[in-house]
Amino acid sequence: MTAITLVQGDITRQHADAIVNAANSSLLGGGGVDGAIHRRGGPAILEECRALRASRYGKGLPTGRAVATTAGELDARWVIHTVGPVWSATEDRSGLLASCYREALRVADELGARTVAFPAVSTGVYRWPMQDAARIAVETVRNTPTAVEEARFVLFDERAYEAFARQAG
Ligand code: ADP
Repeated sequence: MTAITLVQGDITRQHADAIVNAANSSLLGGGGVDGAIHRRGGPAILEECRALRASRYGKGLPTGRAVATTAGELDARWVIHTVGPVWSATEDRSGLLASCYREALRVADELGARTVAFPAVSTGVYRWPMQDAARIAVETVRNTPTAVEEARFVLFDERAYEAFARQAG
C-alpha cells in the first residue's frame, strides 16, 4: 500500500530516494521545477541527460515517459525525469499526464526507490488546470501497483497544496 503524502514547499529541498522532475523532452533543462533541480543538483544531472540524448533518446524523451539519472547534489539518489503534456482545450491529453505518474513509479520500482517526491507535473508552463491535474495525479498513483511506500506530492504554493488536499482528502 502506497501512502500518499502532501507537503507545500520546494521539491529541491526534499529528502527522498527519488525526486521526479517535470522535464521537457529535450532533457537539457528549462524553467520551473526543471531549472530548480538542475541549479541545486549541479552539473552531474545534465551530464547524464546529455548522455541519454546521445544514446537512447536521440529525439528526446517522449511525452508521458520517464527516465532516471543521478540526483547530483540533491538529497536523493535519483532524479526521475518525466515529460508532461502541454494542456489542450481541444484534445484530451489526460492519458499522457497519467502516464507520467505511472512511468515514474515504474522507473522507481526498477531502481528500488521506496520514497518518491513528485511535483505537480504540467501545471506550470504547460498550463494544466491545477484541480484536474491533482485528480489525475492522485488517482493514478492510487491505482498503480508499485512497491513505492511513500508518494509525496510537493506543491510549490498554497493553491496547488489546496487542490491536492481536496483530492487526496
Ligand atoms: P511543466 O512544464 O510540466 O508545467 P513547471 O516546472 O513549469 O512544469 O511547473 C510544474 C509545477 O511545479 C507548477 O505548479 C510550479 O508552480 C511548480 N514548481 C515550480 N518550481 C518548483 C519547485 N522548486 N518545487 C516544487 N514545485 C515547483
